[in-house]
Amino acid sequence: MKSISYSEKKCWLGRLEKGDDILASLTRFCHEHSITVGTVSAIGAVQEGGVGFYDQKAAAYREIRFSEEMEIASLSGNISRKDGETFLHCHVILADVEGKSFGGHLLEGNLAFACEFVITEFAGSAPERVLDKDTGLMLW
Ligand code: ZN
Repeated sequence: MKSISYSEKKCWLGRLEKGDDILASLTRFCHEHSITVGTVSAIGAVQEGGVGFYDQKAAAYREIRFSEEMEIASLSGNISRKDGETFLHCHVILADVEGKSFGGHLLEGNLAFACEFVITEFAGSAPERVLDKDTGLMLW
């Protein structure tokens, strides 16, 4: 196990515009506010979207795409650095018209219908992701 301790520095409450790509917009928000380490959470709805599933044997992401509107029942993630850039790693639970839920890694292409987010910035320097040989993933 590895961990780093931080104190909270600042929080933002915000919302995306209809049609915004959620991952790209949240990443841009962090760039614009020089946020390099922290957490993100959000709720709302998407017009269309998708989640990723990491195939552990193949060491590759599979994509599951949805072309219909879905609720963002939950979105949570963290903000750190990868390849020297601010990087958001988020997971999301999307619920369909019957309340059936699908979850996984937040991909680009989740287009907001409405999306309210909270970003909490931590004080201190961000950990840099490096390749973890055991999983094939870029981890702290
Ligand atoms: Zn993930």
